[in-house]
Amino acid sequence: MTRTADRLFVVQFGAERVSKNLSLAGGPHHLYWEPLYGVIVETGEGRVLFDTGMSRASHHSAENTAAYRAGGVGASNLDVPWHLYPEPPRTDDWNWGLPGDPLVAGLAQVGLEPSDISLAVISHMHVDHSGGIGTLTAAGVPIAIQRRELEFVQSGAVGIAEGFNALDWTAPGTQWRVIDGDEELAPGVRAVSTPGHTPGHQSLLVDLPESGSWLFAGDAADLAQNFLDHTPCGSCAGGTDEDAQNAAESIDRLLALARERQARLIPGHDQVVVNAVRHPRGGHR
Ligand SMILES: [Zn+2]
Repeated sequence: MTRTADRLFVVQFGAERVSKNLSLAGGPHHLYWEPLYGVIVETGEGRVLFDTGMSRASHHSAENTAAYRAGGVGASNLDVPWHLYPEPPRTDDWNWGLPGDPLVAGLAQVGLEPSDISLAVISHMHVDHSGGIGTLTAAGVPIAIQRRELEFVQSGAVGIAEGFNALDWTAPGTQWRVIDGDEELAPGVRAVSTPGHTPGHQSLLVDLPESGSWLFAGDAADLAQNFLDHTPCGSCAGGTDEDAQNAAESIDRLLALARERQARLIPGHDQVVVNAVRHPRGGHR
């Protein structure tokens, strides 16, 4: 018999302004705000958090801002007003987060503190997903990551210009739970290997008793359109033909798994979808 988790919350930590051609290969160079969110899953063996948003240190990093700005050069729609809730502040910032530590503020929205999390799962080490590792490490929370991803960033191959911040994987005392491929992490919670966007990217499959299966893609698919068009994101951090091939296959894999499970397939950065699955009071069961 399949074990299930108990309850699920979707919490938005902030947003980032990026070009659609980063999220959708071959897409237009058109800027818009993409949400940064985490998923909190309550299980019989504690709470699992999937993805952690961007750290305050990265928000305040001039180098990080410069990297975002460089990615936006040449876009024509900087002043188009955003039309969804939440509405980012109309400033020159390229990203925004909840006040203080965005992860702490996000967890507080559902009455939690970092120490209430039993295990944090990081889809990949891009700065907009791994920013909570330092805070979680300080709270004694172990961090689940694919071995290939950890080895990739520890090799020193990438830095802030590529969207990675070493502060996120060098927090003293981080308790890594290193994963090779698919693995059950808690009752009803499973890591699903979806490499390509980064070499060791992973997604998360959650089974709930009433609402059924949820498949959180992470950046294997930023937008619903990645699935509709059968098209991966616009960048592969590893940069090889094999990475591009893996990214295409990861889209196929998620679509097949979603069909098989009749799962809700949730992309990593789609504000329309995040708003649609924002949990009801008391969470999804
Ligand atoms: Zn990413």
